[in-house]
Amino acid sequence: MEDLLNKFPIEDTDELYHLINKLKYISQSYTQHVDSVTSDLIDKDFLDEIRNVVMCGSARVYFGKTLRNLKIVIRDDTGLRDHELFLEYQSPRKIVVTKAKLPYSPEQSREYKCLEEVIDTFKKCINDLERYFYELEQIDQFCTIMEPINASFKDDYRRILLDPRTWLHVEVTPEGLATNIHLVGQSVSWHNKLQTGLLKWDHDKNIVDNVMSIFDLSSFPQPATMCSQNVVPGDEVEDAIVCGICLCAELPDVPGVPQPLCQNTTCGVYYHRNCLYQWLVACAGSRPPAFGVANGTCPTCLQPITCSEKDS
Ligand SMILES: [Zn+2]
Ligand SMILES: [Zn+2]
Repeated sequence: MEDLLNKFPIEDTDELYHLINKLKYISQSYTQHVDSVTSDLIDKDFLDEIRNVVMCGSARVYFGKTLRNLKIVIRDDTGLRDHELFLEYQSPRKIVVTKAKLPYSPEQSREYKCLEEVIDTFKKCINDLERYFYELEQIDQFCTIMEPINASFKDDYRRILLDPRTWLHVEVTPEGLATNIHLVGQSVSWHNKLQTGLLKWDHDKNIVDNVMSIFDLSSFPQPATMCSQNVVPGDEVEDAIVCGICLCAELPDVPGVPQPLCQNTTCGVYYHRNCLYQWLVACAGSRPPAFGVANGTCPTCLQPITCSEKDS
C-alpha cells in the first residue's frame, strides 16, 4: 500500500488503472474473507437475535474465542446479582449451555432454539433461586469455608470451619433450606451440640444464624487466629493442609482436600478420604470391606480408625 500511496499524484492513466484494480482486488478478497467467516460460524438470524437482546437490554452479550462462543450476563430481579452463562451456537436454532455458575438443573443440558428462549428460561431459574443465593452469600461472608475451594453458586454445599479438627457440612436446597447437615471430623462436644441444636432449627432465620445458635458462637473461627502461634510475622504464605499419606494438599485424581478424619482427638493429622480408605483396604489385605467402611489403625497415631469410601 505504501508504495502505491507514494506514487500520488498519479499522472499516468495506466498507473491509475493499475491502482484501481489493485484496490478492487484487495477490497474484494477482504469482503470474501469476512463473508466466508461469518457464514461459516453463525447465521444472520442469530446475529439479529443478538442485536435485539443487546438493544432491549435483557442481557449483556460478549463474544468468546469465536463467534460461536457467547457469554451472556443476566441480572436478577433484585438487581443485586449478575449471573454469567456460557453458550455455544452449534447450528441454526441450536444453542447449548456450556457453563453456568448455578446449581445443576435440567435447563443446563437441553437445547435452545433462540437466545431469547435461553434468557427467559434462566431469568426464571435465577429468580427462583433468590433464597439459595442469599443463604450461600451469608455463609461465604461470615464463615471460613474449607471446602469447596473457590466456592461458587454452582456448589450447593459448604464445609465450615468449627475448629482445626471439626468442620460442619451444610447443603443448601434450591429453595434455600439447609439439608444433610453433619460434622466432618470427630468431636463429641460438637456432635452433642449439633444433635440437640438440629431439633430447635428455626426456619424463619437464615442458616448462618441457626448454626451460630446451635453451637453458641458469637462469631465464626478464622483460620488466621487459630494458628496464630505458628505464623511467623511477615510470613504471608499460607500453608495448605497436607494429607498424612500422600503429603499433598491437592491431588489431580483425588477429590476434595485433606480432612480431620482420625477419631483420636489428640491426633492432628489430616487425610484425603480416598488416600486413607485405600491405605486401610491395602493393610487389610486389599479386600474391599463390606458396606464401604474400612477399619484399621491410623497411620500416624496407630489408634483404631474407620473410614467410609464415600464422603457423605
Ligand atoms: Zn492424600
Ligand atoms: Zn490418628
